Amino acid sequence: MDPLAKADILIVGAGFYGSTLAERIATRLGRHVLLIDRREHIGGNAYTYADATTGIEVHKYGAHLFHTPNETVWNYLRRFTGFSDYRHRGFSVHRGQVYPLPINLATICQFFGRRFTPDEARVLIAGHSSEITGTPDNLEEKAISMIGRPLYEAFVRGYTAKQWQTDPRELPAEVIARLPVRFTFADGYFNDRFQGQPLDGFTAIFERMLDNPLIETRLGVDFFSLKQHLPDRLPVVFTGPIDRYFDYSEGELGWRTVDFEHEVVDTGDFQGAAVINYPDPDTHFTRILEFRHFNPERSYQTDRTIIAREYARFAGPTDEPYYPIDASRDRAIHARYRKRAAAEPNVHFGGRLGTYKYLDMHQAVGAALKAFETVFVPLFAASQAASDAGQR
Ligand code: FAD
Ligand code: UDP
Repeated sequence: MDPLAKADILIVGAGFYGSTLAERIATRLGRHVLLIDRREHIGGNAYTYADATTGIEVHKYGAHLFHTPNETVWNYLRRFTGFSDYRHRGFSVHRGQVYPLPINLATICQFFGRRFTPDEARVLIAGHSSEITGTPDNLEEKAISMIGRPLYEAFVRGYTAKQWQTDPRELPAEVIARLPVRFTFADGYFNDRFQGQPLDGFTAIFERMLDNPLIETRLGVDFFSLKQHLPDRLPVVFTGPIDRYFDYSEGELGWRTVDFEHEVVDTGDFQGAAVINYPDPDTHFTRILEFRHFNPERSYQTDRTIIAREYARFAGPTDEPYYPIDASRDRAIHARYRKRAAAEPNVHFGGRLGTYKYLDMHQAVGAALKAFETVFVPLFAASQAASDAGQR
């Protein structure tokens, strides 16, 4: 039977946004969901798989670290997975030295070559950041206001140039505001109350969320091959790129993509940490991931390991769009798409690609839970009322 015929809603994209809505609409509202993804797997960019050679869980689309301050999101996801007590720590290699990230008191002491107390470090950085006087409104100004120019030039400028290939004065300040700066020796990458990696891997979360007879998942299906066959008034959730939905009619939004160079290495431990960043311009990759370290609780083989070097570049039309660049030109284009999206009947745009927002996983889940309550509960209540009235 044509799966569209019995669907109460079509959801495009089986990432965190689409899967959360599918799960809620099926479980709470008892509605039939048709969930499609053009990829051959569920999970969106959070998809992971066991590497065939080493058995190590590989994050296919780059390092995914779960963290959230949002207890509702945490409790929701814990229905589908347990979390390990993994706390991420980052490192950065600058001129042959390894420094802890995010920038903390240890980074400051090591970089400036002497011991600082927290108060001394604050005074030092305040002196270095005093060149920014107004409200910083781009990445460069924001970074200098947070850490001062010497640390900016060592750890941020080169990394950001490789990651975005866009003038840091054109990039939004929020991109760098993601990283904490600490005047203590606390060296965890995130401040969030809830953190950990899913005990059975990321993909298992999606398998459990979608394990419901009311959800039909079809993989390898592109929305644009179905679009003209959709029944009238079928609600659609679209989590693909918003500019692609409107056939780029308002212009192409800027996206970054990432190439991963995987390598199985004959050692039990290649770098001693999950992620090491390389901000210097003479190294072409931005970071090296070593997947085994995301799950220290597992007993992986000890004679081999798998790593990935990450290279960022502009996304062309056939590339996976990963990061919204959101430069000023993009903001103007996006405003036009937002207007078009608001006027598009029966279509709800969501997720990182559908809203052109640099969302973390917990924010995608949180936004989907909110949309469920504010958009889909009322929508299906209204359609139920209309069909009850029709039967009377
Ligand atoms: P996605 O996961 O991108 O899912 C969208 C899905 O829609 C995709 O599977 C796509 O194939 C499908 N789709 C698109 N167009 C179509 C179409 N036309 N037809 C059918 N299907 C379509 N977040 C964190 O919290 N922590 C991290 O450490 C972290 N690291 C990241 C590292 C990288 C390199 C990247 C790129 C992202 C990272 N994220 C991280 C962000 C995380 O990936 C997103 O928050 C999350 O994937 C958003 O879920 P989503 O459902 O909005 O989008
Ligand atoms: N960043 C940097 N140096 C680093 C790490 C991050 O300059 O060593 C900047 C860079 O601009 C990056 C942003 O901070 O895009 C956000 O970093 P994060 O690690 O959160 O990026 P993601 O994991 O999403 O790629």
